[in-house]
Amino acid sequence: MPQAADDDRLTTARIPFDNTYARLPARFFVRISPTPVRRPRLVRVNAPLASHLGVDPAWLASVEGVEMLAGNRVPGNTQPIATAYAGHQFGGFVPQLGDGRAILLGEVVARDGARRDIQLKGAGRTPYSRGGDGRAALGPVLREYLVSEAMAALGIPTTRALAAVTTGEQVMREDLLLGAVFTRVAASHIRVGTFQFFASRDDLEGIRLLADHVIARHYPQAAGAEERHRALLEAVVRAQAQLIAKWLLVGFIHGVMNTDNMSISGETIDYGPCAFMDEYDPKTVYSAIDRGGRYAYANQPAIGQWNLTRLAECLLPLLADDEDDAVEQAQAALAAYAPAFEQAYQTGLRRKLGFFTDAEGDPVLARDLLKTMAANAADFTLTFRRLSEAAAGPEGDAAVGSLFKDASAYDEWALRWRQRLQQEPGDPAARRLAMRLVNPAYIPRNHRVEAMIRAAVDHEDFRPFEELLAVLSHPFDDQPAFTRYTEPPQHHERILQTFCGT
Ligand code: AMP
Ligand code: MG
Repeated sequence: MPQAADDDRLTTARIPFDNTYARLPARFFVRISPTPVRRPRLVRVNAPLASHLGVDPAWLASVEGVEMLAGNRVPGNTQPIATAYAGHQFGGFVPQLGDGRAILLGEVVARDGARRDIQLKGAGRTPYSRGGDGRAALGPVLREYLVSEAMAALGIPTTRALAAVTTGEQVMREDLLLGAVFTRVAASHIRVGTFQFFASRDDLEGIRLLADHVIARHYPQAAGAEERHRALLEAVVRAQAQLIAKWLLVGFIHGVMNTDNMSISGETIDYGPCAFMDEYDPKTVYSAIDRGGRYAYANQPAIGQWNLTRLAECLLPLLADDEDDAVEQAQAALAAYAPAFEQAYQTGLRRKLGFFTDAEGDPVLARDLLKTMAANAADFTLTFRRLSEAAAGPEGDAAVGSLFKDASAYDEWALRWRQRLQQEPGDPAARRLAMRLVNPAYIPRNHRVEAMIRAAVDHEDFRPFEELLAVLSHPFDDQPAFTRYTEPPQHHERILQTFCGT
């Protein structure tokens, strides 16, 4: 396969790469450069993120920068790699996955002192491509760009979008589509599946090296613990419990929570068939390939536990020499997951309902609202947003009630809510403000995302992408010129299925 030749390397070091993963043993990855593309064109650079990473956004958008983003030239001061991993996909174990179309350019230490990966997704074939072409199509690249940035603005741990370019080449999917390369930024690209790769090969030394790399990089507090690998497992369990609670609190459905798509750092990763739900229904599934609803909205906490159990199995040999002892330790660490999730979820719900204090009946009150929403096809995002306004006084109730098929079902619940609010300190205006900061007005609604993709892909019109991105970067603000983006789809606009788009 053609690769960026050494003499095509960018000689001036525009990005201060410092690659720790590439210093791990050779079996962790393969060294490979991106495959050049015909005609790179910049779609967008994320300037604030670039600056945060210590990369000059103007350079990134220059001819030279775009050549790097397209994979046509590789910085001279880095060692690009494709990483090895395995994973359970829809419950079935695949011992060899790996970056089939993603190439890690390297790591940089951002302004906040945290190390970040910079990875090109869609950069050409690698030894892990299996049957795939190593490429990405423009539509899924724009979806990942938009949704990951929306998640970041919502305050949810996530990989980020540094840039997108088109390649001037076509990729063969169900149709011929314009190709694109997405530049992803992540705390790391280490997954539960990375541990599974070594565990399934009985490579104990690999597991240990990986675990210690992860501790140093993501969970340094575990390094000082008496049992550092147990502390690592506990930290990952906590991070995932909190992450998945955050997803539920904004109506996010990941769609493909395979173990290779669960980041060890606790960031949301892999935006394939993901979507936000409009009407609240815990059974909601968008992904066309998820026929059994394994990754349905309300199944996500349980799947998190399932995936973490797979991680714990990999770590068993590090937890104790005696197998029974190791299993006991793993079970104790995993047992913290459900309470950690419940705590994060209930705390989040309480804030969404405007409670600063903690009362015994709160979980039931929250559950009953959700039940009423489900029975009345109420829009998840709008219900909580309008509830924030209703916190200022009952004159706001009509707007919430109008979201329910039967407004009186909301009114009945609202009586109980107002009674509970009477026990709360703080004035209604402060409550309204606090609620508006946790109940977004703007989420990437699926029909808007699809329309944005159609405009870009079918008409080369990137204005909807730019506009939606700008609106979603301030999800908690009222933006009077863009109230249309707060609205759920009309019946005929609904998008009920999403596709991986690989
Ligand atoms: P995903 O469904 O995106 O999580 O990908 C699952 C696996 O398939 C990973 O190992 C990917 O690297 C690989 N993969 C997905 N799409 C492609 C593609 N177009 N070419 C090569 N490998 C791919
Ligand atoms: Mg993946």
